[in-house]
Order: sequence, then structure tokens, then C-alpha cells
Amino acid sequence: RLEQYAALRDLPTVTRDGVSVELHLNAGLLVDLPHIEETGASGIGLFRTELQFMIASAFPRTNEQLKLYRSVLDVAGERPVVFRTLDIGGDKVLPYMRAIEEENPALGWRAIRLGLDRPGLLRSQVRALLRAATGRELRLIFPMVSAVEEFDRARHIVERELTHLRRHGHGLPDRVLIGVMLEVPALLFQLDQLFEKVDFASVGSNDLVQFLYAADRGNPRVADRFDALAPSTLRALKLIADKAAEYGKQVTLCGELASKPLEALALIAIGYRKLSLSPASYGPVKAMLLELDVAAVSALVAPLLATGSEVSTLRPQLKSFAEKA
Ligand code: PEP
Ligand code: MG
Repeated sequence: RLEQYAALRDLPTVTRDGVSVELHLNAGLLVDLPHIEETGASGIGLFRTELQFMIASAFPRTNEQLKLYRSVLDVAGERPVVFRTLDIGGDKVLPYMRAIEEENPALGWRAIRLGLDRPGLLRSQVRALLRAATGRELRLIFPMVSAVEEFDRARHIVERELTHLRRHGHGLPDRVLIGVMLEVPALLFQLDQLFEKVDFASVGSNDLVQFLYAADRGNPRVADRFDALAPSTLRALKLIADKAAEYGKQVTLCGELASKPLEALALIAIGYRKLSLSPASYGPVKAMLLELDVAAVSALVAPLLATGSEVSTLRPQLKSFAEKA
């Protein structure tokens, strides 16, 4: 199978009916980087910066952060990289940070909430990212944003750091694109205001699905209770893809859904044209994509998601479609 996938490496990621779908990789450490060349991926759709913090024994200094980010950009070369600012708290604890007692850590003081309340940490990370991208393009996203106002505040921190670097005569990135992770359901009802402001968006379906169904993503008793291919999930995801298109903003889906061929097929059917996946899933998802007839699967899916549809999940229909193809 592996050799079979390697043979697909140089084929463009275009479906049988000529639709181009970019496949990017999720990464977080230096060891992930060789996979870009191996797979021929279009770029890194999600770089989880907290991993460096999680394996360290103390807060990585700005310089160590800068070194990692620069290596990532060096390896990626012309290919785009999306860096996510620290997503700590919740299930991602730092051994050297004083633990705070919270009854519901997933709903607690985490990610951008922590970043905005303790901006020192976020500022130093943003500075490292801006400096690592001197003379190049920098793409940034903020995790767990739940209101447009939080995005504004986070972007303001980036702008302040840019001003600071400029004033002190440091080199700057050629271009800075600032986006948002869509993973808190409240953002679904602020999409117009949000897409007015962001440069791009990235859907974190792991958290979005967890919060949509109020089912802990890490608890096997409830994590599989709801099918991600149910109309509720797909309608929510389609709403995002449609709004992004309306505002002319790029959207990538970077949760685990994109890493499963049948789920990825559903995402393409509802309008996603950029997926970011784990390296091990790249071959299987690409193989699916090359065989796919997007017009046919979109025609199958549309009535199943329409008002009045009574299906509880689209899985059987998608499965039989995939098997017949
Ligand atoms: C997600 O929530 O889907 C996501 C991509 O981020 P993480 O899995 O790191 O929370
Ligand atoms: Mg997440």
C-alpha cells in the first residue's frame, strides 16, 4: 500500500471531474517536516505550536521558538505554513506551569483566552513568529476564539508587535495573514462579522464537533455517540464553507475528519477545497480524491442535507457511493 501511495506523489490533487483540492499536512514538531517532501503536500495547514511547549521542561525561550519556526519555514520553502498560536489549557497541560483547578477544562481557561489574559506569553510567541518569517509570508491563526471581539484583540497584539519590530529596525515579514480557528459553535452565528475581518479561516472539527454535540472528544463512552456524518455536523460545516466563499476568504478544514477518506469525501461534497491532514492519512485521502466525481457526490448530498430530509446520517449513502465509484 505504501509504495502504491508513493506512486501517487507527483500526481496533481485534482478529482476525476477536474476539481482541484489542496491537501496540506498537520504538524507540530521538527520530526513531522520530512513528510512534506515524502507526500508532496501543498503546505502545512496547521502547525500546532504548543507541542514544542509540551515536550519541554521549561517555557521555551523566544529564541528557541524562533529557531523552530524558522526551520519549519525553511523546510516548507515556497509552500504555505499556517502557525497556530499556543493552544494550551484544557487537555494540553504544561508540566512546568502551575495547574489550575477547573471542573471543565475543555470549557475553561485555555488557548486564546489564556493568551489574552496573560498577553506576555502570546506577545513573545508572536514576536518569535514575526522574526522567523523575516522577508517571507507569515500566516497565523488563533485557537478557541468564541467572539469577533477576541479576534480583534488578538490581532491587535500582532499589530503592536509589528510596530515594535519596525520601530527597532528589525526585518519584517513580506506579508502577514491573520486568520481564525473556527472551533467554537458560537462563531457559526457571527460568520458575517468574522469573515469581514479575517484573512482566512481554519475549521477545527475535533473541537467544533465536541462542542456541537456536547460530547467529550476524548471520552470513548460519548465520543462515538454521534456520527460526524450526521446532517447537523455537515450543515454546520457547509454553512462555514458557503460563507467563506461568499466573502472570498479561504477556508481549510484541519480536524481529524479530513484524515478519513469517507469523511474527506463528504467535506469535498459540501464545498471544502482545502484539507489539512495527518501524514499517515495523506495517501489514502489522496487516492480517494483522484477517483472522485465531485459533481456526482454533491448531487447526492444536497437533497440529503435539505430541509425535510429525514436521514440521521449520510454514512451509508456516502459509503455505497464510494464503493460504486
Ligand atoms: C481541532 O480542534 O479540530 C484541531 C485541529 O485542533 P486540536 O485537535 O489541536 O484541538
Ligand atoms: Mg482544537
